[in-house]
Amino acid sequence: MQQAESLGSYGAEIVANYDVYTTASAMVETADRLNEAEATPQQYLLLVGGLRSLARGEHSERSVLDSYLLRAMALSGWAPGLTECARCGTVGDHDYFLAQLGGVVCSTCAPAGSPRVARDTVDMLRALMAGEWETIDAAPGRTVAAASGLVAAYAQFHLERGIRSLSHLESHR
Ligand SMILES: [Zn+2]
Repeated sequence: MQQAESLGSYGAEIVANYDVYTTASAMVETADRLNEAEATPQQYLLLVGGLRSLARGEHSERSVLDSYLLRAMALSGWAPGLTECARCGTVGDHDYFLAQLGGVVCSTCAPAGSPRVARDTVDMLRALMAGEWETIDAAPGRTVAAASGLVAAYAQFHLERGIRSLSHLESHR
């Protein structure tokens, strides 16, 4: 899919704002990467929906991107475990999130020294995955930032090669 084509009728709004533009670029680059193996209508519709939301300025750019990344990876079979331990399957409120293990993990499965993740960060990840925008928009900045860091780490890990525009966003903010 060509970048200009997928930006479509939202192009003018998107290029008018630098943060919106870099966020849109990260989304399009992610979609291209995911679609190298198999381009599906679901992926296309998800991308178009995300770009439209960006163009309209409905939510923070960062949250639109994070929600898009989680859902796009889920469509490609890489949904992070958020309700049960990604390693052993134990259901519960777990305190660790490890991209390389596939999502939240329980205290037994988390390697020694793993950093703990706040409950509201995991709740934020669930909201981003589900597209619960009332919850997402109401989240405090530190929760948005903490969840965003985990989403970026997860995306970078699973997309194998680093997404250039994602790492640009990371260093930019
Ligand atoms: Zn476990």
